Amino acid sequence: MSAAHNHNHPPCIREDGLQDGCRRCTQHAENLLSLDDDNLHALIERTRLWMADKGRYPLSDNELIAMRLVEKHLVFARVMERLDTVAV
Ligand SMILES: [Zn+2]
Repeated sequence: MSAAHNHNHPPCIREDGLQDGCRRCTQHAENLLSLDDDNLHALIERTRLWMADKGRYPLSDNELIAMRLVEKHLVFARVMERLDTVAV
């Protein structure tokens, strides 16, 4: 998708998403906890939109990798909630 890779890090993915062709964005996609809280929050919110309407997102291949991970975690978080085993 996007060929741009001259962007600042830490990235602000709220607008543009994780970019393809950027080694650090690839690392962030594969290791979600490497993102700061603001970017993580944006990614989780966009993943929820993506889960409801998969035609709107992702904004890049790297974002798709990240969203698939977030989706798994969201599903697992619901299981933990149901089992009342969310850490306090
Ligand atoms: Zn990047």
